[in-house]
Amino acid sequence: MKHHAPPSSPARPLDALLAQYASGALPPPLHVLVASHLDLNKESEAFVGQLETLGGLELARQAPRPLASRDRMLADIMTLDPVEPGGEGARSADPVFTPALLDYVGCSSADVPWRAVLPGVKEYVISDRNGVEAKLFWIKAGRKIPSHTHQGQEVTLVLKGGFADISGRYRRGEIAVADEDMDHKPVADMNEDCICFAVTDAPLKLTGPVARFFQGLLSKH
Ligand code: ZN
Repeated sequence: MKHHAPPSSPARPLDALLAQYASGALPPPLHVLVASHLDLNKESEAFVGQLETLGGLELARQAPRPLASRDRMLADIMTLDPVEPGGEGARSADPVFTPALLDYVGCSSADVPWRAVLPGVKEYVISDRNGVEAKLFWIKAGRKIPSHTHQGQEVTLVLKGGFADISGRYRRGEIAVADEDMDHKPVADMNEDCICFAVTDAPLKLTGPVARFFQGLLSKH
């Protein structure tokens, strides 16, 4: 679905993300991340509702085959619905995961097969494909993650507790967006262990002359 520029272009990275969500343009892990954020944040939910209304008006006004992308968008949304029988009660009862996330991860928050990566830091890689990596992080209360930068963008949704970094403080339901240039060291809140869902899209790092040509194309993107 092609949008004309909205009346006021998104100022915050979060708004850009919400607009991409409304247009159905996000890869599955980020779609789940934003859907979970909307589940936990009424303000963003209302904002996306407005974007979707605008998008619908635009579709109605616009040209050929608007229904194709609309159908695809709906199909994408449908695939996020829990389909396995018998788990409805348990799904909605999870204290950490939203229903969309529970479905995406495939187990309850109590059954995540964590792997220790640092003292006080555990992770679980949910998926890693097409350059998009989706992970859960568990950070012990008060623990600092060492300073680092990212290849590409890192979008983090807090599911339990909270953390702070150079860009601000984030609690359950809030999204932090760290871009390539941001050197940050998130610190989990003192009073509670922190669980986050993070999605990174790393650009391909290629070497050699032919690779450099493609790298050049990629970096213009
Ligand atoms: Zn980071």
